[in-house]
Amino acid sequence: DIHWDGKHVTVAGLGVSGVPAARVLHGLGARVTVVNDGADERARAQAAELEALGVTVRLGDGDTLPEGTELVVTAPGWRPDKPLFTAAARAGVPVWGDVELAWRLRRPGAAPWLAVTGTNGKTTTVRMLAAILQAAGLRTAAVGNIGVSLLDAVLGEEPYDVLAVELSSYQLHWAPSLRAHSAAVLNLAPDHLDWHGSMEAYAADKGRIYEGNKVACVYNAADKATEDLVRQADVEEGCRAIGFTLGTPAPSQLGVVDGLLVDRAFVEDRRRNAQELAEVSDVHPPAPHNIANALAAAALARAFGVPAQAVRDGLRAFRPDAHRIAHVADVGGVAWVDDSKATNTHAAQASLAAYESVVWIAGGLAKGATFDELVATSAKRLRGVVLIGADRALIRDALARHAPEVPVVDLDRTDTGAMREAVREAQRLARPGDTVLLAPACASMDMFANYNQRGDAFAEAVRELGA
Ligand code: ADP
Repeated sequence: DIHWDGKHVTVAGLGVSGVPAARVLHGLGARVTVVNDGADERARAQAAELEALGVTVRLGDGDTLPEGTELVVTAPGWRPDKPLFTAAARAGVPVWGDVELAWRLRRPGAAPWLAVTGTNGKTTTVRMLAAILQAAGLRTAAVGNIGVSLLDAVLGEEPYDVLAVELSSYQLHWAPSLRAHSAAVLNLAPDHLDWHGSMEAYAADKGRIYEGNKVACVYNAADKATEDLVRQADVEEGCRAIGFTLGTPAPSQLGVVDGLLVDRAFVEDRRRNAQELAEVSDVHPPAPHNIANALAAAALARAFGVPAQAVRDGLRAFRPDAHRIAHVADVGGVAWVDDSKATNTHAAQASLAAYESVVWIAGGLAKGATFDELVATSAKRLRGVVLIGADRALIRDALARHAPEVPVVDLDRTDTGAMREAVREAQRLARPGDTVLLAPACASMDMFANYNQRGDAFAEAVRELGA
């Protein structure tokens, strides 16, 4: 138990995680100082709100550790090499992220966590999992980027039986004492390497999700790196490794047989009427990567003791969130699809693989990524490419190397209006039967506030075409 009264806590960063953290800590009696790099209008408004409560806020200096700090609670996005953390380490002051804070503030007997991480598919899988748990009659919530915030889930009045929790690599980096009931790493591909410093460090942070697991560690049988992380983890006795595969499941795996999502018992006891979990057509959309997400969700739910029927009911009830392979319109025999959430190459590769002939709209902020593999594996599907955004030259060069025959329109624009021009160019390249796919393989912040705004701009421009 932590003695909060009068404890000097420094909250690093305002915003969606810092403001609620500061409020909660202040409410517990801690002496809270918030430090924040920026001092823009939004920051000043948030600061004023906290100062009215009696919280100290230092705007424009996120690098100096306030005198007397006993604990730092950081926004997950803050880079570990920031001087603030060097100073904390030197002073022997622990640093917690938002997840660590929520974990430590859980009440006795609180709902266990079923946790999900991975480079791509986290939100989708967590929402599928919550739908399955709900179908089983459990009180639950999808917690993380979308839905209920972790602090609200842990401290609110709502009683939960179990939580479906999405965790990013940043959050896991700052969550040393988290111990999930069961956890899944969906896949591992290079992303955010500028933040973590190396692929090894990124993988190690993701692997933290398995530490201390009680019942099951769920891994992707097609992605050996996830299995390696299970092997390296220190788990509780009796905790099992469970794989998922798009093929026939080996022992201790879930997989797909004849259009059915099944577990190993189905393969072994088929003649004795072992029950399948669901049909592939119960998964929306039934793209291969999404079936993998459904299997991971099913594995976690089954580890929690949920019956097979609830897996089917939950998957049928589930609908994907906006900007994740969302069908926008059909115009002149061409399908227009918004996968603005494909913010890295691994995600874009998965969504490109779902279509035969694609006009691809791509580009934005590359975050240190390279595009050779994505372009080489997708080249045969490309009718044409329209490039937008700050780092589009990286994609253009990869196309020149691996798909020199594919027509490329390189829009030298990073203003918001560029999306309308991109859509018009894509329409010129598309033939009936093609799909125009916005799957940028990049972050959006060079041109838009976020991926939602980017997807909305795309959908709006597409609707103008149809009008
Ligand atoms: P996250 O929360 O990890 O960002 P989402 O569920 O929001 O993941 O999906 C983000 C994007 O990643 C989707 O729009 C799709 O392009 C892609 N995606 C989803 N699931 C997978 C997967 N299992 N493997 C590869 N790409 C995926």
